[in-house]
Amino acid sequence: MRGRAFGFVYLRSVKKIQDIVRQNSFAKEDLVALLQAEGSDRQALFDAAHAKKLEAVGNKVFFRGLVEFSNICSKDCLYCGIRKSNEQVVRYEASDEEILAACRFAWENRFGSVVLQSGELSSSIFVNRVDRLLKSIKQLSNSELGITLSCGEQSQETYQRWFESGAHRYLLRIESSSPGLYAKIHPNNLHHAFEKRLECLRMLRDCGYQTGTGVMIGLPFQTMEHLADDLLFLKTTDVDMVGMGPYIEHEDTPLYEFRNQLKSKQERFDLALKMVAVLRLLMPDINIAAATALQAIDPAGREKALKIGANVIMPNLTPCDFRKEYQLYEDKPCLDEDADLCRNCLEARIELAGGEIGYGEWGDSIHFFKRKKPSSDHENS
Ligand code: SAH
Repeated sequence: MRGRAFGFVYLRSVKKIQDIVRQNSFAKEDLVALLQAEGSDRQALFDAAHAKKLEAVGNKVFFRGLVEFSNICSKDCLYCGIRKSNEQVVRYEASDEEILAACRFAWENRFGSVVLQSGELSSSIFVNRVDRLLKSIKQLSNSELGITLSCGEQSQETYQRWFESGAHRYLLRIESSSPGLYAKIHPNNLHHAFEKRLECLRMLRDCGYQTGTGVMIGLPFQTMEHLADDLLFLKTTDVDMVGMGPYIEHEDTPLYEFRNQLKSKQERFDLALKMVAVLRLLMPDINIAAATALQAIDPAGREKALKIGANVIMPNLTPCDFRKEYQLYEDKPCLDEDADLCRNCLEARIELAGGEIGYGEWGDSIHFFKRKKPSSDHENS
């Protein structure tokens, strides 16, 4: 904004949303404008994101069967329901048999891939266990199941070992790309350092993983500028996959104290949808997950995200008895739905959203292969 000079008021020419969505590159102020779009502008954003998705990654939706295999965590993140200091949670570890049965279900039902997610531990017992599970999953599925891991910050050696044992995608959300905001939602100590998380994302990429990250949307203290910076962060770190969803307060966490400062759940939901749509415009060929947290606010939340840019969904395959102890936030959905029911329900929902399920396919990130290509071309030349 120029302001007044020589008695004149210079008005910044305001770009139309319809024009911004047609651009191929976006300045921070464009992103803020898109995130604030309302009414027909908002619809123009959603239509453009949907068209971009069809053009860049097609209409298929890929399943990743989610197995939340343990809620034991060494971290104390101020937003998370399974943080170490929450004594209300009954800690569990699913047995190898239970985890492998869930993976077998995924394979038999042609889900294509599974995600193994847990609290964050780095003991050698934990590292060895995940390693063993990876090998068993490959074995039971004839190497057909793709495996994504989401087990937090680890050493380069551990990441490398798990990669060699069969994991080929890894999700590690940066949570917020603003170091200042990150510091407000985590304890202030070396075990919760922003720099370490960034370093882990670099290590994952170096190991050869399809690397995924993401943020929470609607956090206390978070502004539109933070969110626009988050989008630019995803672009500059050149990630292959993104999972991001609304922040939802949990009463047994320190951040609950700030619940009165939050946007309404509906507003956070709407902002999360816009983040997905804008990200699709910014990074057309990455994989974007329709986050489960969307469904905690709106029963059709994930399908709405699929309609406007997401192309991955994570049906919950965690054994039902454990689900209520993996409550990262309140109202987490599907607490008592078994895997069969979950699949049927998802199929119907995806059809409603006009998508087609990529059964039996890994549904890897197209972006990953494109970014790998120049160096292999170079090697061949
Ligand atoms: N230990 C793993 C998995 C963490 S749980 C790791 O560190 O990567 C997966 C994600 O749930 C987190 O990355 C966080 O973004 C999200 N989450 C946690 N608490 C939440 C809350 N209150 N509202 C919304 N999402 C939350």
